[in-house]
Amino acid sequence: MKPSMTVLRKDILHAVTVSGTPVSVKDILGSLTAVPNLSTVYRALAFLESRGDIHSLTLFDGTRFFYSAERHGHFVVCSGCRKVMGFDECPASGIETDIEDRFDFRITGHVLCFTGVCSDCRGSMVERRSQ
Ligand SMILES: [Zn+2]
Ligand SMILES: [Zn+2]
Repeated sequence: MKPSMTVLRKDILHAVTVSGTPVSVKDILGSLTAVPNLSTVYRALAFLESRGDIHSLTLFDGTRFFYSAERHGHFVVCSGCRKVMGFDECPASGIETDIEDRFDFRITGHVLCFTGVCSDCRGSMVERRSQ
């Protein structure tokens, strides 16, 4: 039998699609009304990713985030609290043409991940320093 779009898979796809920011498995679990078995959730995510409905991003610490395939993968990641925020404006089109020419390469997508420190974490650094 071909794997199909179950209610859970639809709910997970919805949760990932409506979120303006990339979501972790924990975020997804929090948005579901019934709490399913964790391995069912991972299977559903793998299914949706294989269909190209969602993409995932794995951070340097192994944390995985999921985002809608309708969005470009543009992120800022805080190296302090691991918060991930996504943005829609695409700064890549000019660079892509350059890269295609330079490497004789046909680009079909991109993921831009900027690392840094968010305002909350910068605030707590200042507090710690002044104590
Ligand atoms: Zn932070
Ligand atoms: Zn883009």
